[in-house]
Amino acid sequence: MIHNIVQVGHPVLRDVAPPIDLASCATPEFKQLIADMRETMHDAPGVGLAAPQIALGLRLFVIEDDSEYLDEIDDEVLEEFKRERVPFYVMINPTVTPIGTETETHYEGCLSVNGFRALVPRALDVHVEGWNENGEQVSFDAHGWHARILQHEFDHLNGTVYIDRMDTRSFTTEDNLELLTDDEEEF
Ligand code: ZN
Repeated sequence: MIHNIVQVGHPVLRDVAPPIDLASCATPEFKQLIADMRETMHDAPGVGLAAPQIALGLRLFVIEDDSEYLDEIDDEVLEEFKRERVPFYVMINPTVTPIGTETETHYEGCLSVNGFRALVPRALDVHVEGWNENGEQVSFDAHGWHARILQHEFDHLNGTVYIDRMDTRSFTTEDNLELLTDDEEEF
């Protein structure tokens, strides 16, 4: 089922989401929720979706940056944005921690701030810890665009939206943004 994606101003986007009881991961309801979030993310389309974006106060997000659309983007552009394919995965009760001090600034959008973009500085590398949909602990490092998606989704679990971190003078409608060619997806 495709869920409605709530827009900025909805209080759930400003709450700190409480942790998920890992025992609930085994329930059919939870498995259905994961399937629904994936479907909702594809439909948007987006490369990430956090539970608060469908009005659920849960420390949960899904990420997938693996669409056919990536085939149409020049390798040079993918390299510039340090964007590599990321197969679908689920993160429960995650922590996302910057590694080092290097940052990059790119235009970013959000499915909950529909129709706008802004420049947002993000750590280039992050370390991630959390649990997958089977309740198994996972940890890994992420780089570039994947690290950006992770920081964006982790922010959603803490009531933070990219507009809190953006260069305010870069804030623009998508229609007015002609500077990028590879930013047709939001998260
Ligand atoms: Zn977002």
